[in-house]
Amino acid sequence: MKKNEYEIWFLTGAQTLYGDEALRQVDAHSQVVVDGFNACGKLPCKVVYLGTVKSTEEIASRFREANASSTCVGVVVWMHTFSPAKMWIRGLQLLQKPILHLHTQFNKEIPWNEIDMDFMNLNQSAHGDREFGHIMTRLNKPRKVVVGHWEDVDVQERVASWARVCSAWNALNNLRIVRFGDQMNNVAVTDGDKVDAETKFGFRVEYCPVGELASAVDKVDSADVDALVKEYETLYEFADDCKTPGKQRDQVFEAARIELGLRRVLEKWDAQAFTTNFDDLYGLNQLPGLASQRLMAEGYGFGAEGDWKTAALLRAMKVAADGLPGGTSFLEDYVYHFKGKGAILQAHMLEVCPSIAGSKPRMEVHPLGIGGKADPARLVFTASECSGVAATIVDLGDRFRMIVNEVDCVAPEADLPKLPVARAFWTPRPDLKTSACAWILAGGTHHTSFSSALTREHLEDFAEIAQIEAVFIDSKTTISDFRRELRWNDAYYR
Ligand code: MN
Repeated sequence: MKKNEYEIWFLTGAQTLYGDEALRQVDAHSQVVVDGFNACGKLPCKVVYLGTVKSTEEIASRFREANASSTCVGVVVWMHTFSPAKMWIRGLQLLQKPILHLHTQFNKEIPWNEIDMDFMNLNQSAHGDREFGHIMTRLNKPRKVVVGHWEDVDVQERVASWARVCSAWNALNNLRIVRFGDQMNNVAVTDGDKVDAETKFGFRVEYCPVGELASAVDKVDSADVDALVKEYETLYEFADDCKTPGKQRDQVFEAARIELGLRRVLEKWDAQAFTTNFDDLYGLNQLPGLASQRLMAEGYGFGAEGDWKTAALLRAMKVAADGLPGGTSFLEDYVYHFKGKGAILQAHMLEVCPSIAGSKPRMEVHPLGIGGKADPARLVFTASECSGVAATIVDLGDRFRMIVNEVDCVAPEADLPKLPVARAFWTPRPDLKTSACAWILAGGTHHTSFSSALTREHLEDFAEIAQIEAVFIDSKTTISDFRRELRWNDAYYR
């Protein structure tokens, strides 16, 4: 994905009442504000100033252009002066891109000695933006509102956070997810309505016979496999039996061959996310664990056992997190540690993204125990100590619900010498008992998309843009309040 091609469009509201000179100043100030956002270094993409709008026709025209633009991922609006909000009705009804209402003012402070009536008429976002907020609320438009002076770091960060989610939303709208195999048989939570999902999120979920993957793997050139294994050797530690002439060396080559075949199929399908199923690997030597780990690290969405909702969410979170410190990975709740506030060992059979690794990953080959295939290669590591968010989207039949838990990754108490899989170890907020109880009441999956690069704010913005229900489990959560919230949401979303 070429994120730098994306743009946020910036529109300033005014009216002709104050004369041409006032409008020239509004325009000049807006350009300074936009230049400030572009220079602050926090935004993931460029902000483009579209000018000052003063009429119903101008506003509708700008929003039509925003809808049609393939580079515009979101629109920021600000009322520098008073902008009678009936002028915005037509445009807002047309607008399909995410919108952020920036409630700011050109001057940070009141110029006590200079302020006169001209200054007051020019700088009246304090009431212009309230007029605009009224019509947004009346039209029930989803939006983010950011309040504060435009040079405040906090304001820049909140706009930047939203802009990242706009890029992710755009990527999700255009995403193609390829499934190799179906869901793992009889599993409820990883399944869902793909028609509803495409209607709501825009992504397409398509089936690719695993035989097409097996055939692509067979066609991979051996010289390419050799080169890829050399690359592995520069990036990872190798277990002794994975080095020449170790008995598992061939399995590393097989894993590299599968990675190259999988890449070719994904490129052919123009897919940026995929799912596998360990029970459906006909024609493959081993579960594509290593390939899934490495593709996730490059930004691909992934879900195991056919979990296309997690693959989609992970892709969106990867795009939102692009360039930020921290990692983003598919994970699964595995084993509890009922001690103190409690903790959960997070892992998967193999498929954990090395972007969350706390140290250099180690290439190892071991039996899997299920699936009936040869021993798969995998990267083994422990996630670094960090705070992050673990998120999932479930299909409740009549709607999608996002569930988010703030978690704190800590070091495991010991080395886990007999557990050869990548893992994270975290205490969910506020504690394991409350978190797991709330998560279960909300109907959450055992699979999550975890990110230490993103915060709750990103996911709140995502849910607002997607217009889906979102519930958050954090340090303030209590079960009685959480139950009430779920019941209220059931009424609201009915
Ligand atoms: Mn799983």
